[in-house]
Amino acid sequence: MAQHIFQTEVSELLNLIIHSLYSNREIFLRELVSNASDALDKLKYLTVSDDLYKGVVFEPRIDVSLDVEGRTLSIADNGIGMNEQDLVESLGTIARSGTRTFLKRLSAEAKKDSNLIGQFGVGFYSAFMVASRIEVTSRKALDERAWKWSSDGKEGYEIEEAAREAAGTTVLLHLNDDGVEVADRWGVQGIVRRYSNHIAYPIFLSWDEATRDDKGDVKGKERKTERINEGTALWRRPKAELKGADYEEFYKQISYDGEGPLFYLHTRAEGALEYCTLFFVPKKAPFDLYHADYRPGVKLYVKRVFITDDDKELMPVYLRFLRGVVDSEDLPLNVSREILQQNKVLANIKTASVKRALAEFKRIAETDGEKWNEFIEQFNRPLKEGLYSDWANREELADLVRFKSSAVEGWTSLSAYVSRMKGDQKFIYYISGGAENTLKASPLLEAYKAKNIEVLVMDEEIDDIVIPSLPKYKRVSGLLDKDGKEAVQEWELKAVNRAGADTELGGREDKDAEKRAVPIIEKMKKALGERVKDVRLSRRLLDSPSCIVADENDPSIQMAQMLKAMGQSGGVPEVKPILEVNGEHPLVKSLALAEDEGKIADTAAVLLDQALLVEGLKLNDPADFVKRLNRLLSN
Ligand code: ADP
Repeated sequence: MAQHIFQTEVSELLNLIIHSLYSNREIFLRELVSNASDALDKLKYLTVSDDLYKGVVFEPRIDVSLDVEGRTLSIADNGIGMNEQDLVESLGTIARSGTRTFLKRLSAEAKKDSNLIGQFGVGFYSAFMVASRIEVTSRKALDERAWKWSSDGKEGYEIEEAAREAAGTTVLLHLNDDGVEVADRWGVQGIVRRYSNHIAYPIFLSWDEATRDDKGDVKGKERKTERINEGTALWRRPKAELKGADYEEFYKQISYDGEGPLFYLHTRAEGALEYCTLFFVPKKAPFDLYHADYRPGVKLYVKRVFITDDDKELMPVYLRFLRGVVDSEDLPLNVSREILQQNKVLANIKTASVKRALAEFKRIAETDGEKWNEFIEQFNRPLKEGLYSDWANREELADLVRFKSSAVEGWTSLSAYVSRMKGDQKFIYYISGGAENTLKASPLLEAYKAKNIEVLVMDEEIDDIVIPSLPKYKRVSGLLDKDGKEAVQEWELKAVNRAGADTELGGREDKDAEKRAVPIIEKMKKALGERVKDVRLSRRLLDSPSCIVADENDPSIQMAQMLKAMGQSGGVPEVKPILEVNGEHPLVKSLALAEDEGKIADTAAVLLDQALLVEGLKLNDPADFVKRLNRLLSN
């Protein structure tokens, strides 16, 4: 038997692990299972790539074996195995470069940051958190001899020749008191399911189960073995091998959704960065979609080993409805949360994934109207959030979001709106701030309808927040400009309830109307005083007598009322509407000759209040409105 002492770095690392990772000791099993899986990967690769190994008959598996009475737990694989020299190099030294600097830094820090150790990857040595002694028996593939490495994790280790029937490695843990606490049948099974369910090889657990006689008394015990992982890293399998039903089953398992997904997106990236992503879009929005403490639905794996399912940074917030998996080859296994957030590899995966998801949404929008409608019914609003928050993908998102319209039934896109525009129309018009039917009935739309100008109906609260942040809609025209580049056309979005949105409605044919209106407007301004910002003759009204609009740079009246209701108007000066009147309407005309101050005041106030009402706004003094209206009716 040969005695060895640990390389200094190993002793330092062991010391740190035992004292700092304490609260997270169950990860030892993840580390050992992951090592076993790597060993299987390596041998599998050799059997397909190296003639020497062609004859190896090999059915990869991992066996976890529990002996509660004997206080041991073993993890065995039939993978590549280690010879004597491998054992010395792998389990007595740390080969990684930078270890010394890393450990120095860690020891210098007053707080032994377990995340930092995690980032480094503690691997095999973490098993000393739960074991007072570890024996590793290993036989390298194609070798005849086997070796046993054993250590109490203090000063050093011994290596001696041993017997092992076939190639592979068995790590036998003599459990300490902490180990005994985690290592019972359900504990072990739970940890494996949690961290290693999708390891691509079958993992079996053996344990002793008590047998009972007819009376229910224990009469002996029986050794049982059961497979405990699902075992298919589905996202790693080639798309061609997988059927819709495979994806559906997997989706149900990870999402706890009883229904299948609406669609999914499976990608494997090779090259500078190697990773797989598999994303699902649910049929129904997750119940907590609009809760601040929603649970993210995308899990992070590194080389098939589960890392976390609770990282909100993995995907942008507006895509929080996605379910699925990101599995990277280029991240360290023990990557910590803090590290994740600044990790370049992950940032690149995220950027590429968002682009792919948006491209897939676009493809569905273009090819499968029915599915797309289902998608929009559920996820239009989160996409609109993206319009506001993801400036890098703004143009793609502007093409994806949908709106109602004065011209067509159902949903429409900005692009479809633009295609329907008449030759010389300069702006994309929209009306916002109310329910769909209120907006569609608004007097503000009369002249647009008469002129056949389409107006988008934005009836979602979020529209008032995101649309002002999208001043222009851009579209590649498909035509080439004079420099041979694809010409980009752009259109400004204009709210019809804005003072300046009527320029395309044309002037008045009857020039005298302007003149005739002057005394009416004067009387109304006087009567309404501070309640309005201005009174103007309208170009937008045909049937209705009056409407309100907001001044170019003011928030809309609806928005102002909303902020007030939310108690957020503090410091914002009160927004007053501009009242526009229809000079051709009898009620307005009647003011031209009116002398009676009381009647003028009543008419002016009713014209203002009804314009507010029709936009779905609240009146400050409804009783006053009713009183004035009744007075006018009884005259
Ligand atoms: P890491 O896995 O991050 O390299 P570990 O400390 O977990 O670090 O393992 C060190 C090395 O020991 C591994 O790189 C591998 O070469 C070897 N090793 C560990 N477990 C096994 C195993 N079950 N079979 C073969 N080799 C192993």
